[in-house]
Amino acid sequence: MHELGICDALLKMVRSIAEEEALEEISRITIEVGSLSGVVPAYMSDCWEAVTDGTELQDVEFVVEELEGTACCLDCGEEFPADAGRLRCPNCGGEKLTPLTGRDLTLKEILAT
Ligand SMILES: [Zn+2]
Repeated sequence: MHELGICDALLKMVRSIAEEEALEEISRITIEVGSLSGVVPAYMSDCWEAVTDGTELQDVEFVVEELEGTACCLDCGEEFPADAGRLRCPNCGGEKLTPLTGRDLTLKEILAT
C-alpha cells in the first residue's frame, strides 16, 4: 500500500511547512487527489491516521478532495474526463490513452488557528 509512504512524506512536509511559517496549532489539512494519481482517497485517510497516531498532529482534521482527471485518446484525439477504473475512450472505444490532468496529489491547504 503506497498510500502509507505518501502519508509519511506528507507528514514530513506538513511539519517543515509548520516550522517555516511558525504555525502553532494546525486544525485542518486539506489534500487534493487526482483521479489518475493511483491513490485511493479512503486509504489516504486511514494511513494518515496511522502515521499521525501519537503525534502532535493526531487530532488534526484531514480532508481529502478528489479531483477529476482528464485523458486524451491517442487514436482519435478525444479529450474526456477519466478515472482509473474506466480507461477507455468514449468516442472510439480506444484504450491508448494519455493522461492530461489528475495525476497529482497536492497538499492544498494547512489551516492553523
Ligand atoms: Zn478515441
